[in-house]
Amino acid sequence: MTASQAILKGICPDGGLYVPNEIPKLERPLSEYLGMGYKDLAFGILKHFLNDFTDEELWEAINGAYDSKFDTPLFAPLKKAGDNCFLELFHGKTIAFKDMALSILPYLTTISARKNGEDKTIAILTATSGDTGKAALEGFADVPGTKIIVFFPEYGVSAVQKLQMTTQEGKNTHVCGILGNFDDAQTAVKKIFTDEALNARLYENGYVLSSANSINIGRLVPQVVYYFYAYLQMVEQNIIEMGEKINFTVPTGNFGNILAGYFAKCMGLPVEKLICASNDNKVLYDFFATGEYDKNREFFVTTSPSMDILVSSNLERLLYYCMGAKETAKLMQSLNSGGKYETSKKFEDFVGEYATEAENAAGIKELFESTGYVCDTHTGVACAAYKKYLDKTGDKHKNVIVSTASPYKFTRDVLTAINSKYANEDDFRSMDILEELSGITIPAPVRGLDKRPVLHKDVCEKDALSEYVESKLK
Ligand SMILES: *Cc1c(COP(=O)(O)O)cnc(C)c1O
Repeated sequence: MTASQAILKGICPDGGLYVPNEIPKLERPLSEYLGMGYKDLAFGILKHFLNDFTDEELWEAINGAYDSKFDTPLFAPLKKAGDNCFLELFHGKTIAFKDMALSILPYLTTISARKNGEDKTIAILTATSGDTGKAALEGFADVPGTKIIVFFPEYGVSAVQKLQMTTQEGKNTHVCGILGNFDDAQTAVKKIFTDEALNARLYENGYVLSSANSINIGRLVPQVVYYFYAYLQMVEQNIIEMGEKINFTVPTGNFGNILAGYFAKCMGLPVEKLICASNDNKVLYDFFATGEYDKNREFFVTTSPSMDILVSSNLERLLYYCMGAKETAKLMQSLNSGGKYETSKKFEDFVGEYATEAENAAGIKELFESTGYVCDTHTGVACAAYKKYLDKTGDKHKNVIVSTASPYKFTRDVLTAINSKYANEDDFRSMDILEELSGITIPAPVRGLDKRPVLHKDVCEKDALSEYVESKLK
């Protein structure tokens, strides 16, 4: 498959995930990328992966994606607060890191369709734990030749997340709550992709399916860029010397973000450890500690809902690079049938850590009180997990905390962490209070969100997703 064909398809017909045959090595010495703006760097990095795109096609996508939709020309600024460095990935339209990839994916998808002579309508199916859905809706709304259907856990997202999705405009958008959790939604969506009879009927109706989840390789590779960008900013801000190894701590759910960091490391970025931070759904922490992946466990609804995931799809890609296709297929079969697998393989590039709800809240409070910096509940998991890692190891490498959402997306929980007296405020009152406390103005995408009309009210059972899809793609 070419890169553009893999992006169009989204997922292999057998349910596997597309990967580059080999992770490419950085073409030029890292120092030559110093001082580049985000877009030039994106071009320099994406070229390595999207090798059947022409330079013009790549620029068309990059220029379309990274523009004034973001509220800073840096797109992904590195901020220092106390001893911590935060890579802020929430300056796009939906104030979560998903914007970094989902603002470019619609361009990559439509260019891929053009390149491959695909004349059917591309129907994007997306399961979301809260943030992908809105970012994908923003990206694909009213894009000619596409439709988008988003499934979210009806009772598993924040009030702001839900309203962001259900108020979405755009004639080609559908949003549906499911009576189940993210894993149910993701599993059902994966099944739809591999249902040959259904896909044939949809084709008759004029549609081909594709994915905006991080199972789509077109979601993953744009995320590699900001690991380089973070590193180069660390050098430019004289926090590290060029060539010095650093750690990244990544709040992790589906393992897409951190896998992009692994790709960057394999390309040659000087990375020591990728610290995989989980919340109470710490299946990945247990995996890195014991080699056993077991999703048969209690599922917790936490204050970091975008990480409430027990089946981290992108781990499959890491397994592939570490143990090959055959062994990976065996483990995935075991996961599908019994919900678990075991390996003796060591993953030296990664360390698992986790933070409980109490540790997360305490960390958010302490960070605010000692530095004035307010982080969201997902970034809070990373902060607290990193602190535990540091206490255990004394690791001297500099660390970047990958900040995945604005505190305004999970305002009430952030405020409650800072002071429990705010626990009874609603999310929108909380925004005003946070604005006063932090001095950071409420981001435009969520200002007045509670006053916008709700346009999507569909809800369906978790085993009725394929009927829903068929009813919308007639
Ligand atoms: C999606 C998301 C995550 C988890 O990222 P993965 O790539 O799924 O590991 C963490 N934080 C926020 C705010 C998110 O939206």
